[in-house]
Amino acid sequence: MVLEIKDLFVSVEDTMILQGVNLTVKGGETHAIMGPNGTGKSTLASICMGHPKYKIESGDILVDGESILDKSVDERSRMGIFLAMQNPTEVPGVTNFDFIKAALQTRMEEGKHLRVGKFILEFETASKDLAMGKGLAHRFLNQGFSGGEKKRNEILQMKLLKPKFAFLDEIDSGLDVDALRIVGENVTELKSPELGLVLITHYQRLLDYIVPDFVHVMINGKIVKTGGLDLIEKIDSQGYEWVRTELGITDFDKRPEPVSLGTCPTKSLK
Ligand code: ADP
Ligand code: MG
Repeated sequence: MVLEIKDLFVSVEDTMILQGVNLTVKGGETHAIMGPNGTGKSTLASICMGHPKYKIESGDILVDGESILDKSVDERSRMGIFLAMQNPTEVPGVTNFDFIKAALQTRMEEGKHLRVGKFILEFETASKDLAMGKGLAHRFLNQGFSGGEKKRNEILQMKLLKPKFAFLDEIDSGLDVDALRIVGENVTELKSPELGLVLITHYQRLLDYIVPDFVHVMINGKIVKTGGLDLIEKIDSQGYEWVRTELGITDFDKRPEPVSLGTCPTKSLK
């Protein structure tokens, strides 16, 4: 079980955002990606899920050796890729319950049907685990949810869909301390050799609950440093300034400027 991102260059509206990302995530591994705002972290998660807004200029994404670039979002989902979005979308008219039920049903072989009774029990258990309100099943997906409820609802979906590779994009933002603990404990419970996990976060506090095996620093659309838990502490206390100094990244004082396509995409970082 392995997801490989190989020398990936990705643009959005003629601006190169990812500039040669390499990352390998195996079953059982938890990777944290940290980095300043606007550096391409959400772009990386979105492109793995197949978001149509982004264009792959070169490179590849492979699952167990097979390229997934020509696969649609739903095919990727059925293959076991999951994205907990930084800003979950509100979908009026579709209840939370029907949404997850439909997602599970489409994963089943043709002619087979979801056992609704069993699903209701699983849904209720997962809702309780995530301390979600009672009416959750019948509310429209994310509509009127608080920031924290939206994030917990992403983890509820993850629990029920049981993905093989999950990207959790700033799952900690907007969570108070109790909600953070609940999310942390629930995600940690899901850790297994059958799950490769990618956590995108700014803060150490999430990583106290969900302990990563690898920590990557992304700057200007590229993973520039990989290490262990010591890296998190250093970033928490010192920010990213020292990474810049250590690696001689010069265009970092201002908000990172994405490189316009017309210029050499590899110029900014070596
Ligand atoms: P992060 O998640 O690391 O904060 P993102 O992946 O969300 O960063 O964004 C990376 C960069 O892509 C940002 O500089 C952002 O402004 C830029 N970007 C996102 N969408 C567009 C767009 N539609 N047109 C131009 N630039 C965009
Ligand atoms: Mg982001």
